[in-house]
Amino acid sequence: MSDTLGDGKLELKQASKEVKESENVAEKYSAMTVSKNSEIVMGELSVSSAAFSAVPTHKPVKKQIQFVEDKQEFSRFPTKAGRRSLSRSISQSSTDSYSSAASYTDSSDDETSPRDKTQLNSKGTNDFCVKNIKQAEFGRREIEIAEQDMSALISLRKRAQGEKPLAGAKIVGCTHITAQTAVLIETLVALGAQCRWTACNIYSTQNEVAAALSEIGVAVFAWKGESEDDFWWCINKCINMEGWQPNMILDDGGDLTHWVYKKYPNGFKKIRGIVEESVTGVHRLYQLSKAGKLCVPAMNVNDSVTKQKFDNLYCCRESILDGLKRTTDVMFGGKQVVVCGYGEVGKGCTAALKAMGSIVYVTEIDPICSLQACMDGFRVVKLNEVIRQVDIIITCTGNKNVVTRDQLDRMKNGSIVCNMGHSNTEIDVASLRTPELTWERVCSQVDHVIWPDGKRVILLAEGRLLNLSCSTVPTFVLSITATTQALALIELYNAPDGRYKQDVYLLPKKMDEYVASLHLPTFDAHLTELSDEQAKYLGLNKNGPFKPNYYRY
Ligand code: NAD
Repeated sequence: MSDTLGDGKLELKQASKEVKESENVAEKYSAMTVSKNSEIVMGELSVSSAAFSAVPTHKPVKKQIQFVEDKQEFSRFPTKAGRRSLSRSISQSSTDSYSSAASYTDSSDDETSPRDKTQLNSKGTNDFCVKNIKQAEFGRREIEIAEQDMSALISLRKRAQGEKPLAGAKIVGCTHITAQTAVLIETLVALGAQCRWTACNIYSTQNEVAAALSEIGVAVFAWKGESEDDFWWCINKCINMEGWQPNMILDDGGDLTHWVYKKYPNGFKKIRGIVEESVTGVHRLYQLSKAGKLCVPAMNVNDSVTKQKFDNLYCCRESILDGLKRTTDVMFGGKQVVVCGYGEVGKGCTAALKAMGSIVYVTEIDPICSLQACMDGFRVVKLNEVIRQVDIIITCTGNKNVVTRDQLDRMKNGSIVCNMGHSNTEIDVASLRTPELTWERVCSQVDHVIWPDGKRVILLAEGRLLNLSCSTVPTFVLSITATTQALALIELYNAPDGRYKQDVYLLPKKMDEYVASLHLPTFDAHLTELSDEQAKYLGLNKNGPFKPNYYRY
């Protein structure tokens, strides 16, 4: 109860901090978004996403690394239950596993640590440390494929390139280094920024992509399979460069920000702002702000509307089926499924399963969400009412012990149990590790737990996030986040003194709308333009924002 109240207050506080939309950079670019005939102009690079929907992308999960110095202080940070950041977002769990499919590159061919190698790119420079610079060409192809589904960023490059809104920006970034991130980094460079980059996750780097970036002169310090020491060494190499001081930070998880605080506190004199995308990192920023220790403005990308919707609702609607199919080859039609939690993730999962012909039940604690589930045609039940009959249980509550050992004992033979929520606490997996039960590893991320009478329950990803552990994330989803990050950097970098104080800000609504508008051409969607009369009637500016901050989409 108190948590909920606290969150509400926080939201109001954040909303009140949003700058006047009329002042910000997003407005400037969004004004260019809609052409006179209301169609969004994307130029010749606009590409249909459908043709590339089969492009595999990867959404690995960060292995939480303890900070070298204040393990205690930082490991205590809780993550905000019920929220998650996508890519990110990837970085928030201390318990989630890493998707084995993060990189196409087989890095086992060369065991030498990149730190012990001297490598040069084709221009003869060596300000980078990657697994193998010779993989650059392969990485370039992957980046080009990712670009096809990230046309919003390509469009942003074209729109803003003439005036280079990031000219003079020295951005140090700590994110997953994937083909999608590379498209973002190359957009920042095209807009005038100098970038130095490191990985926020020791497993998630696509080595060939890191090589491709290094080949074009971006200083990348990252490889797949770094040790914890490597991890901090790479961060340090990014920041600590003779004659180069960052003035912007793009972080995913807060590790880079933390390192600058600890090692280079004076560096903040030059830093104009921090853009943070993960739940965990945002939480850390709020902690710093609360303690009066945040010394630059920060943008909370995680909580922007477009990101939340794509991350939680639409992404899960697609990936729940993918995760279940890849692991079990289950047929969905006619199966009885219970989805625990009818928030954004639950809504996505139930919609997908219903469309496949499953009989879907919902459990909820909240009467509003329960009523929504009823209106959407789902039976709202207590888990115990259906536990003996269901074929699949999916948890997506952000809560703990939603499925207990007692309930697992009562499930029928061959039933599947999995979790789509943030942490592996939703299913009481620990209670299954008792001597009377046998665990049989069927394949990666799939365990059969066998009861003494021979009953088998299929447990996926040991109760960790199913989609992050067993499937992939569409590039289009990552495009939303990357576009938001780019705009947040432009806004913070160009903001006049005084617009942003030393605090955490949500992105202006107008910026969210702009991110969405940049993605509309992919679907050949044509926006209706308000007439003067209509705008007056609704009390709106014809160019937006179209909704108040408290509007729930
Ligand atoms: P949400 O807050 O919108 O929804 C969670 C719902 O669960 C709420 O309606 C809540 O009332 C309900 N709930 C809580 N305890 C319950 C219980 N014991 N039984 C039944 N219902 C219960 O949150 P969300 O955006 O849907 O996210 C849910 C979880 O999924 C979070 O942990 C979030 O971090 C995670 N998440 C996962 C992904 C992914 O890709 N797998 C994406 C986004 C978010």
